[in-house]
Amino acid sequence: MQQIDSYNFTGKRAIVRVDFNVPLNANFEVTDDTRIRAAIPTLKKVLMGGGSIIIMSHLGRPKAAENKYSLKHIIPVIEKHLGTSLLFAPDCMGPQAEDMAKNLQPGQALLLENLRFYAEEEGKPRGLPDDVSDEEKKVAKALMKEKQKLFVDQLASYADCYINDAFGTAHRAHASTAMIAKHFSNDKMFGYLMEGEIKALEQVLQNPQHPVVAILGGAKISSKIAVVENLMDKVDSMIIGGAMAFTFIKAMGGTSIGASLCEDDQLDLARTIMNKAQEKGVELFFLGDVVAADAFAIDANTQICPSDQIPEGWMGMDAGPDSLRAWEMVLMDAKTILWNGPVGVFEMLPFAKGTHRITEILAAATAQNGCFTLVGGGDSVAAVNQMGYANKVSYVSTGGGAMLEYLEGIELPGIKAIREQ
Ligand code: AMP
Repeated sequence: MQQIDSYNFTGKRAIVRVDFNVPLNANFEVTDDTRIRAAIPTLKKVLMGGGSIIIMSHLGRPKAAENKYSLKHIIPVIEKHLGTSLLFAPDCMGPQAEDMAKNLQPGQALLLENLRFYAEEEGKPRGLPDDVSDEEKKVAKALMKEKQKLFVDQLASYADCYINDAFGTAHRAHASTAMIAKHFSNDKMFGYLMEGEIKALEQVLQNPQHPVVAILGGAKISSKIAVVENLMDKVDSMIIGGAMAFTFIKAMGGTSIGASLCEDDQLDLARTIMNKAQEKGVELFFLGDVVAADAFAIDANTQICPSDQIPEGWMGMDAGPDSLRAWEMVLMDAKTILWNGPVGVFEMLPFAKGTHRITEILAAATAQNGCFTLVGGGDSVAAVNQMGYANKVSYVSTGGGAMLEYLEGIELPGIKAIREQ
């Protein structure tokens, strides 16, 4: 497999899939450029190595070409970080894009317009009426497959080599994230961001230093079942916080969880998970005490109470001080920590203490114990960034869904396509 560090880019045109799906405000200004900054080392590597780049990405979920999803809005931010001006192809297909790509000179960078202006990128037929028959659906799908092949062929024809640096979309088997790789048998590779993400995840899942502790939080256990199951074989302890914890507390017989969020249809599953943990010797930690509130509101009245003695009508909104102290002891003994999901309703400041405290503990474990700390998932990453702690943990993942699927043990299509010959 080719490595970006040793590949000779001299005179080569590299087509690079990045994840520039960044948030824009009403004036189409980028409000968080993390994803752009994350891809810059890869883009610069090609340019400094004597090559040229064709940058491709999606932005948002357009159903057709739409100004608000145009990548032209983010050109100034890319130029600022890349330190060079960009050429822009206002359509990623067609003769203009083709000409621009073919005429690229070493050191030049071309940005293609949003790939998802074409349904072919995702490969799903668009605009089918609701009452379409199964037969018609089948025909539309087959037609789309043909069109997608042409789409991939044209993208691939722009370049001599392919780099995938879009971890955020690595779990999608799309034209630009997976299918295009087949056109570059020995000239395809991961970019630095992808390499970093894979290395960090492998450090946790494949050869971690023990004890390994996973902290899982968030709203629903149902969305993280596969992750919990796969992690059972990897971790020594698991801390389950957030609303997810109440499903377990109720499953253990704790009936007084008040109006806390709880998935009653997942109680059996919670019991199965607890049994499995016992079989495998994985210690589970839930909430001892909680910060309870009398409404799901920032100005609600609050009280600290045991997680199984929440007054009627009140709900557990954050981990209480005893829970945090107990978790801290487990975490400060760990050599590897994986964190996904907030342990409270951190969007409301009165209930963000637990999530912020986890961030502080992870920073302390990293600095004091040489613990490898990996944080992933939109909300946990937002919490780490809110506190300015991104540099105080070992690795902050850029992929939400992609990271979760990796943690489920799935080989992501974007990774597989680069690895397979
Ligand atoms: P998820 O997408 O499953 O990771 O869930 C993230 C969401 O879980 C965030 O929006 C949090 O506000 C929410 N959350 C965390 N703890 C609680 C809780 N105790 N009650 C309700 N929502 C929670």
